[in-house]
Amino acid sequence: MIDSLVRQYLERSQLFLGVGLESVGHLFERIGERTLERGEHLLEPGAANEHLYLILDGELRVYLNDGDLPEHAVLGEGDCVGEMSLLDGQTASALVLAARDTRLLAVPHDVVWSLVDCSHGVARNLLAIITGRVRNSNQALVAMQARSLEFEEAGRVDALTGIHNRRWLLDAFPRAMARCERDESPLCLVIADIDLFRSFNDRFGHLAGDAVLRRMAHRLADGLRAQDLIARYGGEEFVILLPQASLEDALPIAERLRELVAIGSGLQTGEGVTLSCGVARMLPGEVLDGLISRADAALRRAKAGGRDRVEVAP
Ligand code: GH3
Ligand code: MG
Ligand code: MG
Repeated sequence: MIDSLVRQYLERSQLFLGVGLESVGHLFERIGERTLERGEHLLEPGAANEHLYLILDGELRVYLNDGDLPEHAVLGEGDCVGEMSLLDGQTASALVLAARDTRLLAVPHDVVWSLVDCSHGVARNLLAIITGRVRNSNQALVAMQARSLEFEEAGRVDALTGIHNRRWLLDAFPRAMARCERDESPLCLVIADIDLFRSFNDRFGHLAGDAVLRRMAHRLADGLRAQDLIARYGGEEFVILLPQASLEDALPIAERLRELVAIGSGLQTGEGVTLSCGVARMLPGEVLDGLISRADAALRRAKAGGRDRVEVAP
């Protein structure tokens, strides 16, 4: 039986908002009160639920799995919970627990349906409650997708230098190559490798080496044209794709990159860092692997020829 205090709570609850309680008062006899201690579970995924619960005071938290994800919703005075099982007759889909000591009214499902039959107001409020839940779920879904895109992006960016990594390259370069092939425009690839970097690390330490890698990545990226792509290929190697570039275009670009590095590199340490480059032009029908290995052969010739230079694949 509902006392007058509970009646006041009810008038403020979502389900009875704007509903004259006199018109449905006869149904209140089967509504029970329930208290939960902090931490106690009200609903568990997969468990049967026969009630719609209205919160009189306290706080409930809704978790969409067993509780290792952040909470999906926080519910307080006037809110209701358990409406999903009411509508589809299935077991609870979420874990609902008390974040504080919480007092509830438990309305048996058949009583809710009788309330709906008696009162358009209750029916309308129930629709509004469900709509709020759907909207809330949609927002959670959008937030989750945005976060998963962020993670995906993070997986494609090199943590040390902030430029793209090899994984991204393996996806982006073939697409750019296919575009050039289709447009019958030339394309070149440059592999740039820091000279004698192991001995730089040995002399100045790995942290100083890392700083050089970061500076170099940004200097190289800044020295490129808008359509060019760059990625850190591995340790001290960068791969650069130059769409719409013939060897005549690519060679001066690679030379400029080499000079950019040679001019400004070891300012902090006083030690010059130099770069060797291998350049190759894409052959008709050539895939990324083939193009990289020809550029790499040219790079090895640049190393053998004394470093700090650019060599072109025949
Ligand atoms: P070469 O001129 O023939 O390319 O000589 P190298 O010493 O640069 O080449 P090698 O392949 O023998 O060594 C590459 C070195 O690059 C080894 C490693 O110490 C350094 N290196 C690779 N990744 C990193 C990194 O993330 N940070 C630092 N500081 N050094 C790195
Ligand atoms: Mg190397
Ligand atoms: Mg090297």
